[in-house]
Amino acid sequence: RTLSTASQQKLVDRKPDVKYQKLFINNEFVDALGGSTYEIINPTTGDVITEVADASEKDIDRAVKAAKDAFRLGSEWRRMDPAGRGALLYRLADLIERDRAYLAALETLNNGKPFKDSYNIDIPHCISVLRYYAGWPDKMNGKVLPLGGDFFSYTRREPIGVVGQIIPWNFPMILLCWKIGPSVATGCTSIIKLDEHTPLTGLYTAKLIEEAGFPPVRILLLKRKTSSQIEKSIFLQGVINIVAGDGPHCGASLVKHPDVHKIAFTGSTQVGKIIGVECAKQVKRTTLELGGKSPNIVFADCDLDLAVEMSHFALFFNQGQCCCAGSRTYVDEKIYDEFVQRSVERTKRRKVGDPFDDSTEQGPQISHEQMDKILDLIESGRRNGAKLLTGGERHGDKGFFVQPTLFADVQDNHRIAREEIFGPVMQVLKFKSIEEVVERANDSDYGLAASIFTKDLDKAIVVSNALRAGSVWVNTYDNFDPVAPFGGFKQSGLGREKSEYSLDSYSETKCVTMKISERNS
Ligand code: NAD
Repeated sequence: RTLSTASQQKLVDRKPDVKYQKLFINNEFVDALGGSTYEIINPTTGDVITEVADASEKDIDRAVKAAKDAFRLGSEWRRMDPAGRGALLYRLADLIERDRAYLAALETLNNGKPFKDSYNIDIPHCISVLRYYAGWPDKMNGKVLPLGGDFFSYTRREPIGVVGQIIPWNFPMILLCWKIGPSVATGCTSIIKLDEHTPLTGLYTAKLIEEAGFPPVRILLLKRKTSSQIEKSIFLQGVINIVAGDGPHCGASLVKHPDVHKIAFTGSTQVGKIIGVECAKQVKRTTLELGGKSPNIVFADCDLDLAVEMSHFALFFNQGQCCCAGSRTYVDEKIYDEFVQRSVERTKRRKVGDPFDDSTEQGPQISHEQMDKILDLIESGRRNGAKLLTGGERHGDKGFFVQPTLFADVQDNHRIAREEIFGPVMQVLKFKSIEEVVERANDSDYGLAASIFTKDLDKAIVVSNALRAGSVWVNTYDNFDPVAPFGGFKQSGLGREKSEYSLDSYSETKCVTMKISERNS
């Protein structure tokens, strides 16, 4: 099916109405207990967009209880046919497609990413991810095992149970759908904590979850009290609960909650380590998708036009706010000067401005704090002696914009070559040989992604195999097909997101073995 046409873009309201500001618990929108709210800031202007309910530890308790109830044996969710879960995901994808233009506008208003990216990349990707997972529930088989002796034995793949999912602000809708897909496909119930900066599209999606018909709002639970007496109680079902709140209180209470069986976290390595330690105390299943400092290696035998454009995209896409940004660009000395010159020209042409303007390539950073952090790292690049060839300052004085910036002659020990900048700042480094560049590329605590530009097939395969990274792209960048796993080596994380690999981290394998009177071959 074709997605909505570009003409729909013209109808987009640059100030979409914010329709949902409350927490979504038990299939209902509710105020935070205690009624507290906080302000959501428009990164393009610095103005307040709206206020949303601020979830506290008590709200997390409520949401976990809802998810636990929905996961009880005999609940409608547990009794649903696997294909029924798939049908719900298909319906949710259809509703996101129906509201694509509105969701894209709301994402742009809240996050600042160019509307043409929200509309053409983020929201269509969400739809594909949900449709990909919609096909899985009735295809996750167990196995019959050839045990010795008079036994019959099989494995079952069962949902882990109640899952806590914590997401950041750089791809609010995409990461929401990366979390919903495998959790629903495997039959888990969940509490999703949206990032405090960017909860608006997630809260609207909560309404779509209700509209998609995630197990009817009310079900009848038959609880046997005595053999003759049956007590009927009616309650709501919170298969997916969505809350907004801060990290250290709201997020941390979800991580610590004893009734949460797994945490899936996307965000900084620093917070990922804290979460990993907390989860280990309860042997809680944990997946972590963390930061990166991904090497992008440009060999002299590449298609230079392609390499310049894709290296620019690898770093600057999404205002540079990508965990897998190609943020160490290693260029063969034979083409170094030309690559740098062309990259500087491309960076100077990068159009920064109002994210609702169709010609804008780069919007604001998410917050004043992130803008300051980026400017501080730029300053360190200058101090360390890297060559600043363009940019290097705040763009304008309203909102949180940073000029597209390029440093050449960066050395491996510079802070800008070691730390995640998470902004529009490109680092170009020179190399001489394959062995040298592979060693330098792997010399990082991170290992999320890497890329290679070359026309030599043998080099592409040998170097891909040598790089210590979860994703390696050759002559391309940021291919995010739902079929492909995504996750990090080393301090870039644990486990894989997307693809069939993520289904493993949302399920437990149970082995059932029965004594039988006689086993024959
Ligand atoms: P962060 O890791 O602090 O926040 C990500 C999510 O974790 C948010 O929902 C936040 O509320 C939550 N969180 C924070 N502290 C928590 C805690 N103690 N327990 C549970 N949840 C907690 O990221 P940030 O402060 O927004 O950004 C800081 C840096 O992190 C960025 O500059 C960037 O380098 C990196 N980052 C990486 C990604 C990624 O996709 N890997 C995304 C955003 C930010």
